Amino acid sequence: MVFARGVRKSYGQLDVLQGIDLDVPAGSVACIIGPSGSGKSTFLRCINHLEKITGGLLLVDSQFVGYDLRDDKLYEVKDDLLCQRRAEIGMLFQSFNLFSHMTVLENLIEAPTQVRGIAPEQAKAEAEILLRLVGLLDKVDRYPRELSGGQQQRVAIARAMAMKPKVLLFDEPTSALDPELVGEVLQVMRDLAESGMTMVVVTHEIGFAREIGDQLVFMDGGVIVERGAPREMIADPQSPRTREFLSRVL
Ligand code: ATP
Ligand code: MG
Repeated sequence: MVFARGVRKSYGQLDVLQGIDLDVPAGSVACIIGPSGSGKSTFLRCINHLEKITGGLLLVDSQFVGYDLRDDKLYEVKDDLLCQRRAEIGMLFQSFNLFSHMTVLENLIEAPTQVRGIAPEQAKAEAEILLRLVGLLDKVDRYPRELSGGQQQRVAIARAMAMKPKVLLFDEPTSALDPELVGEVLQVMRDLAESGMTMVVVTHEIGFAREIGDQLVFMDGGVIVERGAPREMIADPQSPRTREFLSRVL
């Protein structure tokens, strides 16, 4: 579903991604860990067309990210197509980014009706199914400020799912939460993973990565230092850098 080969991203002289190779097969979960500044968020932003890669090859669902293939030639993706491509990829952030002036239901039906052209009644019915899945159907008419951080993040996940994304990207989705609220959000993510959603998750929740991740990726300094099956890698990291990082977060 996500296929990266030698992906590079530079800001001027600063080489933030220095050749990232990653395969995330459909229905699998890749967890990315690594120190601050290692390029984790930048990589997610590249996958989501929020940043333009400066080298390498990046595909989501066999479509080029940043480029459009026509007549066997690569063209830069134009803005209208970019919106469409971005709508196929869901992204969750540390801050929940709900529309504060809209109720929970309005948050969920906004993009499906405006971007995908779904009829409001149908969008509402689908929103209710999603809210039930994240355990928040009773909050349908609430405003974000009336919800806890964990509830807001669960609404944000339901909102992303309302667009029927091909892949969901999470950038430290629980790091802004009080510790007692982390579990409910991880549970929703676990349910999604078990339902077959393709996910790329940047997280410091090593327990989640071990339990739910199909692969664990350790990034440092814009490269992937080590990758593997989460259990083995956490129990027996091969690189000294991975070992040192894990000893700090475990
Ligand atoms: P954290 O764990 O703190 O979130 P990260 O691994 O997500 O870190 P990134 O946010 O991807 O790291 O940043 C990687 C590097 O790229 C940092 O040195 C950062 O300063 C730099 N960087 C990120 N965005 C930009 C930008 N828009 N312009 C210039 N430099 C940037
Ligand atoms: Mg980051």
